[in-house]
Amino acid sequence: MTPSGGPPPEPGWQRLGVSQEDWQHWPWQMRERVRDARALARFVEPTDDEVAAIERLADRFHFVITPYYASLMDPEDPDCPIRRQVVPRTAEQDDPVGVADPLDEVAHSPVKNVIRVYPDRIAFCVNNECALYCRYCLRKRMVGDEEWTMKKRELEVALDWIRETAEIRDVLLTGGDPLVFSDDRLGWLLAELRTIPHVEIIRLGTRLPVTLPFRVTDDLCRLLADHHPIWVNTHFNHPRELTPEAAHACDRLTRAGIPVGNQSVLLAGINDDAVTMKQLCEGLVKLRVRPYYCYQAQLLEGTAHFRVPIERGVDVFRELRGRTSGFAIPQYVLDTPYGKVPLSHPYLRGREGDDIVVEAFDGRLWREHNPL
Ligand SMILES: *Cc1c(COP(=O)(O)O)cnc(C)c1O
Ligand code: SF4
Repeated sequence: MTPSGGPPPEPGWQRLGVSQEDWQHWPWQMRERVRDARALARFVEPTDDEVAAIERLADRFHFVITPYYASLMDPEDPDCPIRRQVVPRTAEQDDPVGVADPLDEVAHSPVKNVIRVYPDRIAFCVNNECALYCRYCLRKRMVGDEEWTMKKRELEVALDWIRETAEIRDVLLTGGDPLVFSDDRLGWLLAELRTIPHVEIIRLGTRLPVTLPFRVTDDLCRLLADHHPIWVNTHFNHPRELTPEAAHACDRLTRAGIPVGNQSVLLAGINDDAVTMKQLCEGLVKLRVRPYYCYQAQLLEGTAHFRVPIERGVDVFRELRGRTSGFAIPQYVLDTPYGKVPLSHPYLRGREGDDIVVEAFDGRLWREHNPL
């Protein structure tokens, strides 16, 4: 085992005998993705359970991993936090309560691929492809599924809906992953959105800075900067994902004037303890990436082994409060069909006559004189 756990010290391209140029070329990474147990064995020795799960679950939910992300796995540790996010386990078949669409997104869709929960902003699922598929993905029902592939015509129908719906000031491009699009296609989509005067900001939700950081090219950053104001939210879940390559991708985005935030998912055994979460969040702010949300894992089919009791999540973030920079602490939220609900420790303890009682980070109570 490597001293602190984690991948072997040589870079992935060296270990695999690939040229560094190929390795850093994002279409090469997409083409050479791990798709079966044999390909996975080039990085880690799959367990019997993983081999069985890959065979049984492959057609239910895509199994694909970029070589870059696979190279971050610890070959000595089957419970490696990178590996658990992307390699299936038979435990996925053991989830009596999970459902396909826990947020009832289908019912909140005024036009295909648009999800509207709030009056002024929407999630616009522009494609169904990701560089890899996370086992806890909320959009499991659509990612990697051909039926959801968006044709240009469908995108135009959704764009027309946005054009006709004057309240929409904030459009969140998601999927799948909008950065899987070619620069041309993304450029077309952004230019179309920019012809709509009431669309003030465009956000991209993308995991590619984490799973395929080479996608964040100078050309892409120029393209995004041409359509400002653009905000990006990415999705790091574990400090081991904060590699020099990922840091470089985030740096390019921020240098293009794009505020970069992070949305993670609280995952049992991966990041559901205060030490790991603090490392993740402090690592993010060092990259100038602002921790934004941490989601409670949804009641999604096949993900029981990732879910944690909400009280545990509240405790994790309570432990961070006062013990790291305030802006390093994301808001822990539960996403519901009615929108995102903040889950936080009740620091406001209540009123006693003319006083409000609050609890400080270290548990001390403070009375603030505050007559009604
Ligand atoms: C998360 C989400 C948004 C954006 O919510 P913010 O709290 O503004 O980040 C918008 N629409 C949908 C459907 C969402 O799920
Ligand atoms: S990158 Fe995002 S959308 Fe794609 S599989 Fe992972 S969680 Fe789902």
